[in-house]
Amino acid sequence: MSTEQAPSMPLFSELGLAAPILKAVHEAGYETPSPIQAQSIAPLLTGRDLLGQAQTGTGKTAAFSLPLLSLINVKAKSPQMLVLAPTRELAIQVSEAIQTYARYLKGLHVLPIYGGQSMGIQLRQLQRHPQVIVGTPGRVLDHIRRGTLKLGELQSLVLDEADEMLRMGFIDDVETILKETPEKRQVALFSATMPGPIHRVATRYLKDPVEIRIKSKTSTVDTINQRYWQVTGTHKLDALTRILEVEDFDGMIIFVRTKNATVELAEKLEARGYSSSPLNGDMNQALREKTVDRMKKSKLDILIATDVAARGLDIDRMSHVVNYDVPYDTESYVHRIGRTGRAGRKGEAILFISPREKRMLFAIEKATKQTITKMQLPSSEDIADRRVMQFNQQLSETIESQDLAFFQNVINDYQQEHEADPIEVAAALAYLVQKSRPLKPVKHVEARPARRDREERGSSVRSARRDGKSPRRTLGSAIREAEAGMQTYRVEVGREHGAEVKNLVGAIANEAGIDSKDIGRISLQDNYSTIDLPQGMPKDLFQQLRKVWVCNKQLEISLMSSNVPQAREGDNSERPRKAKRSGKPRTRPRDKARRPSQRREAKKG
Ligand code: AMP
Repeated sequence: MSTEQAPSMPLFSELGLAAPILKAVHEAGYETPSPIQAQSIAPLLTGRDLLGQAQTGTGKTAAFSLPLLSLINVKAKSPQMLVLAPTRELAIQVSEAIQTYARYLKGLHVLPIYGGQSMGIQLRQLQRHPQVIVGTPGRVLDHIRRGTLKLGELQSLVLDEADEMLRMGFIDDVETILKETPEKRQVALFSATMPGPIHRVATRYLKDPVEIRIKSKTSTVDTINQRYWQVTGTHKLDALTRILEVEDFDGMIIFVRTKNATVELAEKLEARGYSSSPLNGDMNQALREKTVDRMKKSKLDILIATDVAARGLDIDRMSHVVNYDVPYDTESYVHRIGRTGRAGRKGEAILFISPREKRMLFAIEKATKQTITKMQLPSSEDIADRRVMQFNQQLSETIESQDLAFFQNVINDYQQEHEADPIEVAAALAYLVQKSRPLKPVKHVEARPARRDREERGSSVRSARRDGKSPRRTLGSAIREAEAGMQTYRVEVGREHGAEVKNLVGAIANEAGIDSKDIGRISLQDNYSTIDLPQGMPKDLFQQLRKVWVCNKQLEISLMSSNVPQAREGDNSERPRKAKRSGKPRTRPRDKARRPSQRREAKKG
C-alpha cells in the first residue's frame, strides 16, 4: 500500500496518561489521538490552563477528560473535577464519555446534574461523594447555593461549549461558579467561536493558557461532488443501506471512527449482501495489503476504514467516499474524500452529519471552498425503479449470453398445456426470481423531514394545519394516526400529575436531543399522555427516556403505534393496546441482488 506523508501524530501511550485511562482508551478502539487531543493532553497533564477553539466532533471531550482524570485522586471523596456544559443532553453525553474513560479507575464516581431532574435524586447521588461532576450552570449554582455541592477541593474546571453557554444566557452563572472555585484550580475553556464575552472570561480567569486552535486549511476538491445527509429519525445503517441500493458505485470507502466500528459495520453490510471488509490499524500490514489488493481487483466493493488505516490509499475504482462518522477536522475530511476522484476521475463524497455537528459542515464548506448539497434519502419508489432497472439489465444480459433452448421448451410446454398467457408466465417467473428482493419493496415510512425542509418545500403540512385539521399539539384528540415518519409513544405522566405540554416538550427535547420543532402531536390525558416522535429511536435513547422525570414521575415511555389509529380521548380507564413494532429492516439477498463483482467473488467462494 502506498502512503502519503502524513503529519506525525503521537501515540496515546506516549502522552503520559495514567495506565487505567490508557487501557480504557485502547478498549474504546481509538487508534491515535485526534489533533486536539494530541495538543491538549500533555499541557493539561502538567496542570496548565487551556483555551481551545474547537467544535463538536473534534474529540475534545477526551482531550480534556483523559488528562484531567489521570490527575484525580480516587481515594479523596470530594469533587475534584467539574465540567460545565450548556444543555442537559450534553452534560449526560459528557458524563457517559467520562464514565467510559474512567472505567478502570476503581472508586471513581461521575455525576451528571442538570435542571429538570428531581432534586431528591441528585441530593442522594451527591452524598455518594462523586469526584467528577458534569452539570448545567443553573443547577450547579443551585447546589452550590444550597450548600449541597462544595468546591473547596476542586482541582479542575472545564467550560465546554462556552459560546453556547453564552448564547443560552448562562455566562453570569458561569462567572459566579468560577468565583466559587479555589484560586489554584486548573481551567480548560473550549469554544467553537470566541465572541468578546468569552474572550473576556478567558482573560480574567485563565492563567497563561496554552492556546489551541483546530485550524481549517483551505483546499480545493474540484473533481468531487459533495453531498450531505442530515442524520434525523432514520438509523444511520438504514440510511446507508438505502443509499447503497440506488447509488451507482464501483468501489466505496466508508469512514468510521473506531477499529471496532470498522468490523461491526463490515459485518452488517456483509449480512446485507455487500462484499465488504474492515481496514483498520489492528490488522497487520500483510492483511491490510491483501485487503487493498482485493479491492483493486474488484473482489471487494466496500472498505470500512479508520482515518489512520486509509492514509494514502490510492485505488482508481474508488468512486464513493461515505463519511459515516464525521471527521475530526476539515483536514481529515479533505484527506478522506481525496480517496476518490483518483486518476482524473470524478468522485462522490457523502457526509452523514447530525444537527449538533452542523458547524463542522460549515467549516468543511469553507475549507473546501465548495457548497455541500443536502441530499434526501432515496424513497421506496427510487429503490423500486433501481431494482427494476437492474432486473431488466440482467434479463437482457441473460438473453444475449445464455443458450436458452432447453428453457424455451419447458416454458412452451407449460404454456400450451395450461393455455396460459405468456406475459403472465413471465411475470410469475420474475416474481419467483425476485422473491427475496422484491421489485416493489414494502413501502418505507419516510423519516419526517426537519421543519426547515418542510418550509423550503412550501409545505402542504402547514396549510393543513392552518385549516386546523391537523394541529401538532393538542390537548386530547379523537382517533388519529401518527404522521408519516413519526411513531406514537405513551408516557405515564398526564394532567393529574400536573404535566403540561411544555414540560413534556422540554424534557424530551433535552433528553433525546430532538429539536422541539420535530416533536409531533402531544395529547394530554388524565394519567398518561401520548406523543409523536421521529421514527427509529435508538434503543439506548429509548431506555434513557424511560427514566426521565417530569412532574416527579418517570416517563416510562412505551411505543404505541407507527401510523396506526390511537385510543380515543377520554378513554382513560383502558390502557391503549400496544402495537407491535413493525418493519424489521429488510436485508438484501446475498446472491441474486449482487453487483457483477460481488457475483464473481461469490463464485470463487
Ligand atoms: P467529541 O468531539 O468529544 O464529541 O467526540 C466525538 C466522537 O469522537 C465521540 O464519539 C468519541 O467517542 C470519538 N472519539 C474521540 N476521540 C477519538 C479518537 N482518538 N479516536 C476515535 N474516536 C474518537
